[in-house]
Amino acid sequence: MRKYLSSAVYTLVSILVLGSFSLACSGSKQKEITATANTPETVKKDSTNTKPADNKTILAKREVPVLCYHQIRNNIASDSKRAHDDIIAPDKFKEHMKMLADSGYHTILPDQLYNYLVYGGKLPEKPIMITFDDTDEDQFTTGNSTLKKYGFKGVYFIMTVSIGRKGRINYMTKQQIKQLADEGNTIASHTYDHKNFAQFTDEDWTTQIDAPTKKLEEITGKKVSYFAFPYGVFKSATLHKLKEHGFKAAFILSTARDENYPLYTIRRIIDPGRYTAKNLYYSINKSFNKTKS
Ligand SMILES: [Zn+2]
Repeated sequence: MRKYLSSAVYTLVSILVLGSFSLACSGSKQKEITATANTPETVKKDSTNTKPADNKTILAKREVPVLCYHQIRNNIASDSKRAHDDIIAPDKFKEHMKMLADSGYHTILPDQLYNYLVYGGKLPEKPIMITFDDTDEDQFTTGNSTLKKYGFKGVYFIMTVSIGRKGRINYMTKQQIKQLADEGNTIASHTYDHKNFAQFTDEDWTTQIDAPTKKLEEITGKKVSYFAFPYGVFKSATLHKLKEHGFKAAFILSTARDENYPLYTIRRIIDPGRYTAKNLYYSINKSFNKTKS
């Protein structure tokens, strides 16, 4: 658990520095973390619970589709074949978002997903989550503007080293990240410089986890509670540390969830540039809309 949750002094400093943190927010957060610290033996299914669900219950729930995007731009000759999965043309991205809206999908954010998985909270019909990794500026320009057209919200997993960088790829500025947060999107962590989680040293928990969280909280004035693994790669043995460092849930790619840490291995699929809208629709249903067998 991050120190400021248990330290009134730090909370007060945070309020002075960030302005928009509130005591009420820290207080309820503290209560929530205390409440999830122990896994109860019995949990009632299919109702709004005050006690957190156990792993088995979470794993048995219907998965909510989560999409993952990286770069939204046209391909250029120098793009490697492997990079193509991470690049989707702006026209295609727009077409895919239109398909989701036309098909009746409603975007949800990580807090809603967490409440659904842990406390049986209600979700809108045909829920879906749209996430963006790596801080590329086109996620703000094309991504956010397209999402807004359909009343959609997104999740932006920021790699903090890249904030404000310009060059072959332009990255989002602090102001753009703040605007996304102000508009009700979720800003979340994707490490400092994309280091593989499975290779974290003790020191990396400060540089790749705590420092980026602090930076993003300073930019947005909001708590950072969610994490996406670079390359989708995780290591079971250190997943427990994510909770200790203040995260409520974390996102992988399309590999299997960890049975002991389902909240920290939430699955996502990449919408690759080669997909038509129809391909995407089928992929969503094939990858997620199964009850656990
Ligand atoms: Zn990434």
